[in-house]
Amino acid sequence: MSTTAESELVSVSPTTLERVGAVRRTDPAELPAVVAAAAQAQSSWWELGWRGRADVLRRAGAIVRARADELAATVQAETGKPRTEAITQDLYPAVDHATWLAKHAERLLRDERVKLAQLHLKTKKAWLAHEPFGVVAAITPWNIPFGIAFTQVATALAAGNAVVLKPSELTPLCGELVADVFAEAGVPAGGAQVVQGEAPVGEAVVGAEGIGKVLFTGSVAVGRRVAAAAGARGIPVVLELGGRDPLVVFADADLDRAVEGALFSSFINAGQACVSAERIYVERPVHEEFLARLRQRAAELRPVDDVGPLISERRRDEVEALSGAPRLDGSGWFLAPTVLTEPLPDVELFGPAVTVEPFEGEDEAVRLANDTSFGLAASVWTRDLARARRVSRRIEAGMVWVNDFGWSFTTAAATWGGVKASGFGRSTGKYGLLECSQVKLVDEDRGRLRPAWWYPYEPAGEAALQALLDVLYGSTTERARAAWRHRRELGHVVRRSLGR
Ligand code: NAD
Repeated sequence: MSTTAESELVSVSPTTLERVGAVRRTDPAELPAVVAAAAQAQSSWWELGWRGRADVLRRAGAIVRARADELAATVQAETGKPRTEAITQDLYPAVDHATWLAKHAERLLRDERVKLAQLHLKTKKAWLAHEPFGVVAAITPWNIPFGIAFTQVATALAAGNAVVLKPSELTPLCGELVADVFAEAGVPAGGAQVVQGEAPVGEAVVGAEGIGKVLFTGSVAVGRRVAAAAGARGIPVVLELGGRDPLVVFADADLDRAVEGALFSSFINAGQACVSAERIYVERPVHEEFLARLRQRAAELRPVDDVGPLISERRRDEVEALSGAPRLDGSGWFLAPTVLTEPLPDVELFGPAVTVEPFEGEDEAVRLANDTSFGLAASVWTRDLARARRVSRRIEAGMVWVNDFGWSFTTAAATWGGVKASGFGRSTGKYGLLECSQVKLVDEDRGRLRPAWWYPYEPAGEAALQALLDVLYGSTTERARAAWRHRRELGHVVRRSLGR
């Protein structure tokens, strides 16, 4: 794995602060060769066909299940998250996406026949083909280091692309494992490569000749930098960025469930899930009771077993400064799960602290929920499902869950992504697959009829083309009347089409 000391990227446990392992740091100058090898592998990957690729994806899912102990242990070692979370956040999405993509990619991406209802196009047949970009880059974060990297690579591969993965520098071993699983599953050599390092390596990936699209998951600031760099080169991006998600509890909610749901969504991954609840709004009549119960439950959570550390000393210090969450004794970068009552600034906290504030009525709940520049996800807790539906539609977010939180992350069919500052495009499921494909119109015409809109331009032709507007596009009665009224012009069109 590691070579010379200066090119070594060392992975450190945020729980014990001990070395977990190391990988070779990629020299940014290597990127052209990496992308060239990926482009070469992409041809054989594409030639494998839908069935062949589906077999590989299915095998990748099976390998994740077979190697579950090793994969979960590496996720846990690099992030410090509890084993339950390594299984639910990292392994479940991987297996679900591999299985789903193997089953559905062909159906969703096979050629679509274009219906040409217009009379003047009846000589044509047309299709929309979904073609790969070639080489897609996936740049991924540390918080779900195996799950996110795996799903991005799997989705890009399922659409027929080769992939260059740039995992977070804080979790390089998980990135290696993703490439390793796909190689074992049978992706041609070079088809799913990993490059390792910090921002300069990410920049080299985005700047490399031959990258057709960038799938970026990470912070708003870096996402915008990546989008600007890609935009300067005319390359499309998907941005899966941070959130500051609201959790809205109405007075009629099942309070036991709402408290447990709020606890889970605030402190899962030590608050370092992109969709962690950061702002809780509770309807006035139950606000006090909810607050007291959430505080009590938060105090009962066990460090390490229930709530892991912050990923780094820098992040621990930032979250501590923003929220005042107290440090815990011991070696790792731990902060105590903290429930606050004063609003925090409109930045993603990404740590184990959450604010709880009261509201009165549906309109205020929606106003408070939307009072942020972010728009990743939200949850609504109530027994009144009609109200839940109304409020869900009014909240500005890419995903809104009712009486639950975050479940759709493990479910490829549900698709994932945000609005507003939280990004654009979708990274998984049907819409994620479409993001990894470019649409091409292809058609057939035997060339027997001459289109009436070709040269020469002349008054009779113009009159005929104008008349055709009414004949082709009006209501049935209008069309019939127009056809009779413009029979001379239509005759002209027919004669021209037949070349007479
Ligand atoms: P980050 O933005 O710091 O880094 C993300 C990735 O970008 C890393 O691989 C990093 O090395 C790379 N990078 C850094 N600078 C770069 C540059 N100039 N050019 C190219 N690549 C560069 O984010 P992070 O701290 O790793 O992850 C946490 C963030 O990710 C949070 O904001 C979280 O909300 C977000 N996130 C979003 C989702 C989602 O689905 N929307 C999921 C998980 C995490």
